[in-house]
Amino acid sequence: MNRFKDPGSDISAFVGAALVVCPRCSGCAVSRPRGGGIPDASTPRRVSCTACPLSGERESPAPARGRDDARDPFFRLPLWLQTPCCGAVLWALNEDHLAFLEGYVGADLRQRAPDDAGWSNRSTGSRLPLWIKSAKNREAVLKGLAKLRERLREVRGL
Ligand SMILES: [Zn+2]
Repeated sequence: MNRFKDPGSDISAFVGAALVVCPRCSGCAVSRPRGGGIPDASTPRRVSCTACPLSGERESPAPARGRDDARDPFFRLPLWLQTPCCGAVLWALNEDHLAFLEGYVGADLRQRAPDDAGWSNRSTGSRLPLWIKSAKNREAVLKGLAKLRERLREVRGL
């Protein structure tokens, strides 16, 4: 049996870097926090492309249009890792996030770590859309995640 331990972390734990589609060359660009320290959702970001000279900066997130729209919240660029799935869009910010989803969806038994206040109900796992967690979609979601993994391989080594 595959056990999966939910780290109980907010999605902001994954804001280190987001892979996005370059608006200039359609290659893979990276949106990442500027400076040192532990980034949070309000840390200024810069974007740079792995395939062309594109670069840019933003001091604060662009106005949000919902967190599930498969775009980087700062630059509003489409995420590199996204694929249609179950009538919705399955997406991941980066490899860590993809690995989290693979672990979560692939696990037979889900365990959650208690936070300071007891059992967390704000973990990334518990806040995933229902269609991702639904047992009947499990196979389709795993196929979608495999497509995202393929997409990630396209930029390996860059
Ligand atoms: Zn580019």
